[in-house]
Amino acid sequence: MQTKIIIHGGFFSESSTSAEVKKLKQDALQRIATNAYNYLQAHTATETVVYAVELLENDALFNAGLGSQIQSDGKIRMSASIMDGETQKFSGVINIQNIQNPIQVAQKLLSYDDRVLGGEGANEFATANNFPAYNVELPQRRTEYLQKLKSKGLGTVGCVALDASGKLAAATSTGGKGFEMVGRISDSATIAGNYANAHCGVSCTGVGEDIVSGAVAAKIVIRVTDGFTIKDAFQKTFAELTPYDGFAGAIGIDAHGNIYNQDSHPSMVYASFDGTAMQVFN
Ligand code: ASP
Repeated sequence: MQTKIIIHGGFFSESSTSAEVKKLKQDALQRIATNAYNYLQAHTATETVVYAVELLENDALFNAGLGSQIQSDGKIRMSASIMDGETQKFSGVINIQNIQNPIQVAQKLLSYDDRVLGGEGANEFATANNFPAYNVELPQRRTEYLQKLKSKGLGTVGCVALDASGKLAAATSTGGKGFEMVGRISDSATIAGNYANAHCGVSCTGVGEDIVSGAVAAKIVIRVTDGFTIKDAFQKTFAELTPYDGFAGAIGIDAHGNIYNQDSHPSMVYASFDGTAMQVFN
């Protein structure tokens, strides 16, 4: 099977739409897509999506892990999830704090019966499993917070991979919308924001409430499962966002290796790689 990978770095935030930052993000995505593609040659799709999302979380340019947005009470709470397309297992953490790589905690939960943990429980699980405390706050985010810049600070990260044995997986990680109410649940650790099965995998970014209303990732994957082409599945699902001007972007790969991405508003940043052709877009 020809291995394939696609990653996204969310939408540009208003505070970072300069040409310089755009170029930095595109370069970072290209580097991470290449790195994750190489990793995919000797690892499963599930291992690879976690690896790619970790690299994205560690890059301060993106709103996940280091560099996450600050919520209305001044704290950072992050969400991340993973779905193994073969086993159909979904696991995730919602509103976890002070962790370098929320996606690693989500991965750890894959082998448990209770696979989605929120808030305090997610942090207790992380501590019990020796994930060290880590401050993910950047001075720039604090400045934005203090200035109450209610910018569209969207910038979740995600990855979908198809491995050499034809298995698909998807992973998504976010620092959230920024300035959200305490207790708000992002789409990123729900099946609306991250979903995969044997036929297709999808990771989303955008306004979580719109993505949940549109059940975006799950709907695209199910449509492909029921016989839609990946393109038609994306297009129909995105058309269903238009009545309420839903703000979303998504990346996906089907079991045949077809890669697709779409956004409702400009511009989600993403990169895909199949070993020869690198595509980097915003
Ligand atoms: N979907 C994320 C959320 O609503 C934000 C984003 O994609 O940037 O929490």
